Amino acid sequence: MPILSLKNVDAGYGKFQILFNITLTAENNEITVIVGPNGSGKSTLLKTVFGLTNVYNGKVFFENKEITKKKPHEIAKLGLTYLPQLNNIFMNLTVRENLELAAYMHSGETMPIEEAVELFPILRSYYERKASTLSGGERQMLAMTMALIRKPKVMLLDEPTANMAPKIAKMIFEKIVELRENFRIAVVLVEQNAKKALEIGDKAYLLVAGRKIFEGHPRELLSKPDLTKVYLGIG
Ligand code: ADP
Ligand code: MG
Repeated sequence: MPILSLKNVDAGYGKFQILFNITLTAENNEITVIVGPNGSGKSTLLKTVFGLTNVYNGKVFFENKEITKKKPHEIAKLGLTYLPQLNNIFMNLTVRENLELAAYMHSGETMPIEEAVELFPILRSYYERKASTLSGGERQMLAMTMALIRKPKVMLLDEPTANMAPKIAKMIFEKIVELRENFRIAVVLVEQNAKKALEIGDKAYLLVAGRKIFEGHPRELLSKPDLTKVYLGIG
């Protein structure tokens, strides 16, 4: 049974429909990768799962429970965490304050900060630094640790490696695998860095202009140059 599923979802913002008839599943303990050109609706898809868009038709299920019309804070309480690409940490607070706030603001069960910070132990040496003084990679580490504190069953990650040096991006991808391996979290990963994301993914979806045009194993997608060349700039 998938932990998360969308069934024939049409969604958008007000009268602007962005997603058309999206059916998708994410399994427990798997990394589900969503790729596609800019503007194809990847972020909108994650927002839709988290209750931040208008759903006109279709349904969203989390652990067999319908969550289509639920509010983000209700969805978060069920065990789903959404990491937007931007504005996912508090810049004027220290690293420590950000971590404490992540625990404080969550209404469900939380993980002790010291346990969560094991994902990126380096954060310990930054505790008293303001988040605004961190590099892009360090901010992403902080955001992912804050998400982990909320003990999610599913993490929705929107372009966690955007604008990062290849070395830092590689490390973030390794940590995403660790979320699956060590923390047993199902990850739904939206990436512009398609090749790397497909290399760690268990399942892949390709979105183009708000429609699903491929669903299958990432290896299968990577073996279709007609799709990867045109839509992902690979090969
Ligand atoms: P992606 O993440 O794949 O780049 P998005 O989901 O961000 O794509 O955007 C898909 C489409 O939705 C784009 O045409 C974008 O302009 C539009 N869009 C995004 N956010 C909003 C919004 N808040 N209101 C109206 N249209 C939006
Ligand atoms: Mg996006």
